[in-house]
Amino acid sequence: MMYNSDMAKTGPKPIPWQDRIMRHVSPEPNSGCWLWERSHNGVGYGTLGVGNGKSALVHRLMWELTNGPVPDGMFVCHRCDMPPCCNPDHLFLGTPGDNMRDMHAKGRYVSNSAALTKPACKRGHPFTKENTAIYGGHRVCRECFNARARRWRAAKKAQYSGAPLRAVLQGF
Ligand SMILES: [Zn+2]
Ligand SMILES: [Zn+2]
Repeated sequence: MMYNSDMAKTGPKPIPWQDRIMRHVSPEPNSGCWLWERSHNGVGYGTLGVGNGKSALVHRLMWELTNGPVPDGMFVCHRCDMPPCCNPDHLFLGTPGDNMRDMHAKGRYVSNSAALTKPACKRGHPFTKENTAIYGGHRVCRECFNARARRWRAAKKAQYSGAPLRAVLQGF
């Protein structure tokens, strides 16, 4: 079994990373990012011990947990540009070149102030009075916000029920 050396160091059987990963993630209401609260490496990516004294990047572990192994030469990139985020919805596979192109594309998007006066959120829910909340000075679509909260609770629950995260998250 994989965790032998850890067992020798820490006594009772260590909890596998798959069962620990959601414990240290907190949701960010504006962006829907799942921010890692524990250790970060030098450039802000979350890291988690995976046994045998090794640690791995949290967003990469989350990708593997929800989508399967990362193919050789590919990187797990962030749509949201938040290195500590590990929301599987914000992650995509890319080459280093894709990552650069993506950043440029987003730069153009952000500089377009028309985005701030759009009548609907990016999923097409209208910004009506009832459907609009303000967080930190930004408009938030309530419908999307509620969907993110449901997703978040489901992911937390999956952690304790042993259900595969991927199956749970696909329901949203
Ligand atoms: Zn994010
Ligand atoms: Zn919405």
